[in-house]
This record gives sequence, structure tokens and C-alpha cells, in this order.
Amino acid sequence: MSVGIVYDPIYLQHDTGSHPENKQRLVAIMDLLEKSGLSEQLTSIPPRMATAEELLTIHSQEHINRVESYSETGGWLDGDTMASSGSYEAALYAAGGLIKAVEAVLHGEINSAFALVRPPGHHATHHRGTGFCLFNNIAIAAKYAQQQGIERILIADFDIHHGNGTQESFYNDPSLLYFSTHQYPFYPGTGAVDETGGGDGKGTTVNVPLPAGCGDEVYQQIYQEILPEAARRFRPQIILVSAGYDPYWGDPIGMMDLSVTGFATITRAIKEIADELCEGKLVFTLEGGYNLQALSYGVKAAFDTLLGNPEIEDPLEKSRYSKEPASAQEIMERVKRVHQL
Ligand SMILES: [Zn+2]
Repeated sequence: MSVGIVYDPIYLQHDTGSHPENKQRLVAIMDLLEKSGLSEQLTSIPPRMATAEELLTIHSQEHINRVESYSETGGWLDGDTMASSGSYEAALYAAGGLIKAVEAVLHGEINSAFALVRPPGHHATHHRGTGFCLFNNIAIAAKYAQQQGIERILIADFDIHHGNGTQESFYNDPSLLYFSTHQYPFYPGTGAVDETGGGDGKGTTVNVPLPAGCGDEVYQQIYQEILPEAARRFRPQIILVSAGYDPYWGDPIGMMDLSVTGFATITRAIKEIADELCEGKLVFTLEGGYNLQALSYGVKAAFDTLLGNPEIEDPLEKSRYSKEPASAQEIMERVKRVHQL
């Protein structure tokens, strides 16, 4: 089982200071991967810059220019999204790094990969960088896969926030199934059950908007029951994952209740779907996650799962809630009904 890792110190050049989405996130992850010896089991995939043509498959020229010019001076694209002098280059390498991972998996050089990139991407829309995101890495990589002849792509997004930019990018596209679990109502406000896709893409957007306080059991049900049904009907040829570790119970931003073991369960469920439907072709990319310990152990658990290592290490405390919200069951039933799963 060969598993790729995309990482480069260039991602630390997106310097956001004391913002929750800061370079210490990647430093902490890389430290743990080194210390545990796990990095020796991984195949390094050097990133490259995404090209202008690749960015333009998702973003307007105006938006690309704006990110570039904000990076020259440093500044805020919106109330919570900033650029520093190294941000434009880091963002080009983030999108290009994910493209390299997808390329390596499609060419069979590796079975699966995790791209440890920043800035994250899933909130970036055609015109805007927002929600800590500059370019939509996963959407750009999915367009790249489509250009390589891939006809059906599944994007699963377990970040606590809805990936509005990714949803928007493929809302009318029947060849991409976007599946998201997220806290709702919450930032960015999108991701209701009845947002199911438009035009020819009707039915290929599956939103599971969850009340705060959902934990390992609810997520297990969703990723072991609802996602596999949707995926079997769609028959993806590759699965891309927006991996956000902000549903962790101790995350400073989110209000979900997942443990590191819960993240491992989600990863295992997605890997089983990939093994069943698309020869294990699976590429993760980092989105959110702001508790550095949980983020590091969550990513390590993902690598252990992709590698097939038997032991998943979860040295952190479990959740603070005793019971998951009953309304989560109603939401799951509604999702199944709307999508006839
Ligand atoms: Zn998030």
C-alpha cells in the first residue's frame, strides 16, 4: 500500500500571525509525523504551482489578480481572510500540490495521498477568497481530474463548515457528487438539505446539515450508511476529501463532538468505499482544524488508516457531551428521503 504526502515549507510562507489558521498547524502535524516515525512510511510528492489556466477553471481573472495584489502589500480579503507577502505563492503551490497528488494517484504511482497544504480552499468561490481560503484547491484539482478524462468524481467534505465554494463550483455538474456534513446553521450559512444541485446536476449535491453536539456515533452512521449508498449509485472513479478537523469536540471554532477515534472511523469508511468502487483511488486535502493536538492526531490517524496500520492512536480526551442530539436522526432521515437513499 503506497501512500503519498504533499508537504513543502512554502506553505508556511502564508503568514497569518496569530490567526487560528496559522502555520503552526502544519508545523504541529509534521512534528508528530516525524516523531512517530510515520513519515518514513510515506511517499513524498513534491508540489508545483498551479498554472493560470488551472486556476481559471474555477476562479475569475479578477479574483486571481486580487489575491496576487493583496499578497504584494499584505491585507485582508474579508473580515477573517488575510494575505501576507508569501500567500500568493503558497496558494499556487497549495492548489498545484493537490493536483500533483491527484495526478500520482491517477497514474497509479501511489494508491492514495494526503495533501498537507495551506491556505485551505473549500470556501473560495469563483469571485471571492473567504473563510480563510484563497483558491479552492479541491475544486481546481477536481477540474484537473476531469480534464484527464475522469467522468465521475466524489468529493466528501467532513470539515465542520459547509464547503460553499466547492458546492458552487459543481452545482450544475452531474459528473461530480459533492457530499458534505457540517454544523448548521453556522458559517457560511449554506448547505441546507434541499440544496441538491441544479440543472443537469440535480441530485449530485448531498448536504447533511447537523445540529451542534454531534459526535462519533452520528458521524459513523452517516459515513457508514448514507455516504456509501450515495456513492454506490454514483460510482465514482476517484474520491477527493476535504478533511477538516474542526468538528473535534475541543476545537476553538466548532461546536461538534468528534474524537480522534471518530475521525479515524470516518476515514476508514471513506477508504472502504474507495476500495469497493474505485480501486482505492483516494486523495485527502487539509481544510480546517484549529486544536493543534487533535489536528495532528487526526491527520496521523488518516495516514495510519490509508496505510492499513492496525493501531490508531488516540491519546486525547473524549468528548464533553454525554448524549448526541436527537434531531440528528431526523436530519439523516430527511437526507435519505430527499435523495431516495
Ligand atoms: Zn472549517
